[in-house]
Amino acid sequence: MGIEICAVGGYGEVGKNMTAIRVDDEVVICDLGIHLPNWIRFTEHDEGEVVRYSRKKLIDEGAIPDDSIINDWRAKVVALVPSHAHLDHVGAVPFLARRYECPIFGSPFTMEVLKTILHDERIVLPNELKTVLVGSRVRISQKIELEFIHMTHSTPQTTMIVLHTPYGGVLYGCDFKIDDSPTLGPKPDYAALERAGKQGLACAMVDSLYADHKGKTPSEAYAKELLREVMFGENFRGHGLIVTTFSSHIARLASIVEFAKKLKRKPIFLGRSLSKYTTAAQEAGLIKFDDVEIVKYGRKVRRRLREIERQKGEYLICMTGHQGEPNAVLSRIADGKLRFHFDKGDAVLFSCHVIPAEINRQNRQVLEKKLADQGVRMYRDLHVSGHGRQDDIRQLVSLCKPKMLIPMHSEPPMMDAFCEVSKQMGYKIGETLFPVRNGDRLKIV
Ligand SMILES: [Zn+2]
Repeated sequence: MGIEICAVGGYGEVGKNMTAIRVDDEVVICDLGIHLPNWIRFTEHDEGEVVRYSRKKLIDEGAIPDDSIINDWRAKVVALVPSHAHLDHVGAVPFLARRYECPIFGSPFTMEVLKTILHDERIVLPNELKTVLVGSRVRISQKIELEFIHMTHSTPQTTMIVLHTPYGGVLYGCDFKIDDSPTLGPKPDYAALERAGKQGLACAMVDSLYADHKGKTPSEAYAKELLREVMFGENFRGHGLIVTTFSSHIARLASIVEFAKKLKRKPIFLGRSLSKYTTAAQEAGLIKFDDVEIVKYGRKVRRRLREIERQKGEYLICMTGHQGEPNAVLSRIADGKLRFHFDKGDAVLFSCHVIPAEINRQNRQVLEKKLADQGVRMYRDLHVSGHGRQDDIRQLVSLCKPKMLIPMHSEPPMMDAFCEVSKQMGYKIGETLFPVRNGDRLKIV
């Protein structure tokens, strides 16, 4: 008996995160995510309609984790716990959750996003959805108490999950960056992390996506300044001004709306995923987008674009399509599928990085070529990541001092880089440091 983890997804790859943690005869699953590039490749021809995908097909396509590797633990699962609202952490819940007879626990924003996905996909889950306040603890069985610790990342109410057990704590720390100047929501809950460490953490699984980057990830406040410099430093008067960013990045969207108002432009959000996340943020009581027009559906997007085209200088348009996704609003405009004529001097601001996957690089290249051909001014990389670099990792580890470390959410080179950083902190491969791969099981205690 004791604690054992099974690396189901996200170990040696970026995406489809899923970790099963067994405590005696009970199992908690942290995250059930999709693999975004594989998901997009698989679904890009759907043209937005609701399509039923089978679990098996999605697993075969590499779009969701292959949870058959924990079939022997299936009846033991007592909780499903998505750590935050990003799709590579919560997006597979609609396809996998029904296999487990247990509730789903998550922060208010995460659960609102999940409800919206279920509603949009017309999926009804038998699992009970339990909303948990960030910063609280929930006892789910005699042996396991879950703690949801607030952490900064690039979507609201991201949590680090601690399983408190009779054998010590297990920290699921994915995703995170340490941001002392967040533009929405509080700083990380350092006190809770320190307390968890003092109580004794047997093990921590940690986001290692940026472990090959030296230094510290800049604050979200810095990304806001990057945007401010372009939006106020350049003269866009009378021209179309389009910003595209991650729909789940509510803090960034709030900055964009703030600047739109200062520029005396009306903010408008166009696209399904923008509508999904901003509605969830409002439902969770995080923010009000009262003076933003949010347009979700295709026909209305089409009509509003035609109207805006005649008075471009009065709007700041935020739209989906920052990765060049073929079905997103920006790509469809560039393709001529949605009527919106670009004039010379109109600008598109990419408040994002290209997510490093071949399909994204190709999609963005195609999109940028089309926009350039239409005379659009482009501004790229007005963004900072939500993933911690080496100094963030060091800071987290020194705060909560886990006995054992496991890197996750990255490919082997980044996992190796994580191991180098950990070794400098005294961890030893095979003794206290375990770069496990999908399918591996590891006895912790
Ligand atoms: Zn994330």
